Amino acid sequence: MDLLEQRILEEGIVLPGNVLKVDSFLNHQIDPELSMAMGEEFADIFSDVKIDRVLTVEASGIAIAVTTALKLGVPMVFARKKSSVLMTEPVYKEKVYSYTKKESAEITVLQKFLPAGENILIIDDFLANGEAALGLARLVEAAGSKVAGIGIAIEKAFQNGHQRILDAGYRLEALASISSLENSKVEFSEDNAVLE
Ligand code: 5GP
Repeated sequence: MDLLEQRILEEGIVLPGNVLKVDSFLNHQIDPELSMAMGEEFADIFSDVKIDRVLTVEASGIAIAVTTALKLGVPMVFARKKSSVLMTEPVYKEKVYSYTKKESAEITVLQKFLPAGENILIIDDFLANGEAALGLARLVEAAGSKVAGIGIAIEKAFQNGHQRILDAGYRLEALASISSLENSKVEFSEDNAVLE
């Protein structure tokens, strides 16, 4: 069994509302070795496409996006969820509904960190209904760049984000694909990428 699936089975806690809590290695405490292995796996999976930059959204996407970017030898930028006094220059903004916070927020990136004409790899920790990933894709398109692919650490394939991303024409790769969280039990789909 691959490394990430094993950690999910050992440490994941299923919460009401189809939420998987993995705060011991991904969402609060971060396991640097596992993050590095995930970054290497994403870099390997997307090695057949040209990537100029990795984009994620704060906070939990940052660790795996940075290890992916390190492996690819490109910069990484994260969208902010809250406005900051540091954002004094022109920005791209998109409204995104948060699955875990149950509210909409604007995600923002300074335009200078998302130049036009690039191929951007989007990375995130979880995929549920696809709001975060599709919001990031809209930022990329608003910038005049292309989405080279969307890499997700843990997708919940039984929710509708998977299909929405494919319907939008994007390439989607998940390191662990969960087919069910029913009765608080994690079950994996069989055809997800292997992380060893
Ligand atoms: P989506 O935007 O695809 O509906 O949900 C993905 C985002 O919501 C991720 O960025 C992640 O922060 C959060 N999320 C969705 N489902 C889960 C989950 O089961 N566990 C955790 N920890 N975060 C989740």
